[in-house]
Amino acid sequence: MAAPDVVAPPRARGFTTTAVHAGQEPDPLTGAVVPPIYQTSTFVQDGVNVLRAGHEYSRGSNPTRTGLETQLAALEGGHRAFAFASGLAAEDALLRAVLRPGDHIVLGADGYGGTNRLVNTVFGAWGVENTPVDITDPAAIAAAVRPGVTAVLWVETPSNPLLNIADLTAWAEIAHAAGALLVVDNTFASPYLQRPLALGADAVVHSTTKYIGGHSDVLGGAVVVADRGHRGVPLEESVGHQQFAAGAVAGPQDSYLAARGLKTLSLRMDRHQANAARLAEWLQGRPEIARVLYPGLPDHPGHALAARQMDGFGGVVSVRLAGGEPAARAFAEATELFALSVSLGGVESLICHSCEMTHASVRGTPLAVPRDLVRLSVGIEDVADLEADLAAALERAARR
Ligand SMILES: *Cc1c(COP(=O)(O)O)cnc(C)c1O
Repeated sequence: MAAPDVVAPPRARGFTTTAVHAGQEPDPLTGAVVPPIYQTSTFVQDGVNVLRAGHEYSRGSNPTRTGLETQLAALEGGHRAFAFASGLAAEDALLRAVLRPGDHIVLGADGYGGTNRLVNTVFGAWGVENTPVDITDPAAIAAAVRPGVTAVLWVETPSNPLLNIADLTAWAEIAHAAGALLVVDNTFASPYLQRPLALGADAVVHSTTKYIGGHSDVLGGAVVVADRGHRGVPLEESVGHQQFAAGAVAGPQDSYLAARGLKTLSLRMDRHQANAARLAEWLQGRPEIARVLYPGLPDHPGHALAARQMDGFGGVVSVRLAGGEPAARAFAEATELFALSVSLGGVESLICHSCEMTHASVRGTPLAVPRDLVRLSVGIEDVADLEADLAAALERAARR
């Protein structure tokens, strides 16, 4: 008897090969190497409900969006991805897909201010309570869980803007022991540096506005789900239903820009983090700086965990000024290359005074960000120019 054919399993492709090719095949009709932007709302039918390529109406699906969703699912190692009009639209759709009035959320205390606003003002009004927790303290996280009531644990790591690191394996264990879902906001790390689904998360959310788009020219969001369910409904189904029924979808132009950005994510991120590491070290030696927060520094409390859990330390650095709030404000207003603005993850460097800008919505609450803190989104420019800009700004600020 002939031996059965032994077929070698397909070799798993690398991250960048996947980023360039997954969901981005040349157009079968024309051979265009870059899949077209399908700027259309509807699709002609060959008979009643006889669809040519499965697309009916662009709220349900659009080939440009499907291409981006395929790319994102492949890069996060997810079962399905769904693209939305913004990061918050993605978060909203995911939460509505899995929550019912009366449910409870355990929410990482240092996170994106807008996530906090969404959970408190929008979901709070629907009877969903939340408990903020220290993301680095597993005992506090477990103690915040209300058995049978907590439906979601939500965490962002590295966190914004303190750059604390959460142990995702520990978070997943606590969530699953309580029958709850673990959602991870992976915006800061991007799938290039961290893949939470492989560490036990049930869903990942992204603001594709940041590193994925990468050029500060598009707003977008995504939910990537594992092949798991909640209350007996697969996440693929419940999130897909929200996307279609509520309709906060990514449009074709925005989907194209996010997909185009994803193709060069690894190259940009390598440069972002090389620049960030160099500036973090340099800032540590400056007398105006009391403390540098960057997970790549050996003295960062989350350094060892980040080294284990991530494939790099990212491109965001926060600093606390020795001169307190006035010095922080003056520094943020004194740079020239670093543009004073909210957002992050673009090729150009940005600076912000977090407590008054990105985190104004939690001002005066226990979640408020230290007033002496400035966040740097380090771009891909030549690092010597960035260093010179920061040095000049620190000197200018000291003279004010
Ligand atoms: C920007 C951001 C969001 C919100 O995304 P939008 O695209 O602005 O709606 C969510 N989480 C994190 C970590 C972010 O930085």
